[in-house]
Amino acid sequence: MGMPNWREAASKLKLRSNAFIDGKFVEAISGQVFDAINPANGTTLAKVASCDMADVDLAVRSARRAFEAGVWSRRSPAERKTVLQRFAELMLKHGDELALLETLNMGKPISDARSVDVPASANTIAWYAEAIDKIYDEIAPTGSGALGMITREPVGVVAAVVPWNFPLLMACWKLGPALAAGNSVILKPAEQSPLSAIRLAELAMEAGLPEGVFNVVTGLGETAGKALGLHMDVDAVTFTGSTEVGKLFMTYSGQSNLKRVALECGGKTPHIVMADCGNLEEAATAAAFGIFFNQGEVCNAGSRLLVDAKIKDGFLEKVIEVGKTLTPGDPLDADTKLGAMVSKVQMDRVLDYIDVGGREGATLKSGGKRVLDETGGYYIEPTVFDGVYNNMRIAQEEIFGPVLATITFNGAEEAIAIANDTIFGLAAAVWTDNIDVALSTARRLRAGSVWVNNFDESNITMPFGGYKQSGFGRDKSLHAIEKYTELKATWIKIRS
Ligand code: NAD
Repeated sequence: MGMPNWREAASKLKLRSNAFIDGKFVEAISGQVFDAINPANGTTLAKVASCDMADVDLAVRSARRAFEAGVWSRRSPAERKTVLQRFAELMLKHGDELALLETLNMGKPISDARSVDVPASANTIAWYAEAIDKIYDEIAPTGSGALGMITREPVGVVAAVVPWNFPLLMACWKLGPALAAGNSVILKPAEQSPLSAIRLAELAMEAGLPEGVFNVVTGLGETAGKALGLHMDVDAVTFTGSTEVGKLFMTYSGQSNLKRVALECGGKTPHIVMADCGNLEEAATAAAFGIFFNQGEVCNAGSRLLVDAKIKDGFLEKVIEVGKTLTPGDPLDADTKLGAMVSKVQMDRVLDYIDVGGREGATLKSGGKRVLDETGGYYIEPTVFDGVYNNMRIAQEEIFGPVLATITFNGAEEAIAIANDTIFGLAAAVWTDNIDVALSTARRLRAGSVWVNNFDESNITMPFGGYKQSGFGRDKSLHAIEKYTELKATWIKIRS
């Protein structure tokens, strides 16, 4: 079986554009819509239902009804497993279509969407399905006069608010554990990338999820997102997005019903290369892909390259060479490694940061420009700055684009100090051939994920999330289930 002709497949694709509430596709009550744009050429793909408070309220009522009825929440874990396994299989069966929706709507290369996003998303659902009927509760060591049961119960109605950079995968990191644990979920995709989420809801229904257990409200952040944050009958919000909006969700919670909030926010990952790194070729390739993969629109992108002064010049040349092989191109071309930025707004934001970097005194070593303007799409070349100081804006603020800031250090102590001098703490990486340097550095880096002699390698068995203003709570691994369950202590007196 060869690769499909992606352009032809794209032209035949059926695009769903309604919200999915209570098991049905519905327009927004207000009749309002917003444009889903293809960032590869700036054209409108679909007019999507723009939900507001009224639609969100319908979705919450439906989710609550399903939860109270027990059609999902009180099914046995083994029964939930079967439905979710079917859901994962359907995602794989419709993998080409899901990959196309992702690429068309947010500009990532189709080869990545097909080989990374779709299989990782399906695997996430399958993994939690497999896990959920193998987790036991606890009996407390009370002594003979009582039985102390410590049990986990689904938290209730969960709102999942996700970003546009990995629309399917971020949704599945929330849906997998939340649904497996028995909750009802309302997913709000980002307004830049709603199309794959809508199709996901349809596949979930086909797999046998009862009505109301999984709703999708499409809409803008300030309307649909805010309405979920402020709703009095949402029990938990699980959010991935910017630190700024993460803080808003904390406020919404305080202003409403004190719903639980879990936040996966921004990052400014330090990618450290010590002078004794034995494989500089591999490290340089990792440094380039670490910032340019997914157009740099990755929360844990290695956006700060920290290199020891002893090796900096030669190393940076290698990184730039690799970067030059990643010329932006049509995301539907199977050979493209770097696609389009998600939107004009995001492209302009990144170009503005490139400008700021120059004005702050950093040296632009390669890239720096918009390209392929004639397509109408939003493309930026891989961009590398040298001579960056950690107090510059391009070293402190999240750019979320293909822009690398190179900072030089002298020795491990200084590297660790610079790495930790940030408001973020999502991830960090270190390359060294010295086991003691590797372990002591890994321990001292204030970040939720640390990679030693690799960058961004992981799988579903490892938790993911941040320290500091990168948020709190963890996606992935069995730890994620804690976010979607209440802990109940039942003390039973034994009369004898
Ligand atoms: P964003 O914060 O603007 O939007 C994220 C979600 O929040 C979207 O669904 C959006 O509609 C909603 N939203 C926006 N404004 C809102 C408001 N006022 N009230 C309620 N909801 C609102 O982020 P983005 O631009 O979509 O994504 C980029 C950000 O996401 C980056 O900062 C990136 O680091 C972060 N991110 C983090 C992770 C992680 O796991 N830590 C993963 C991917 C992306």
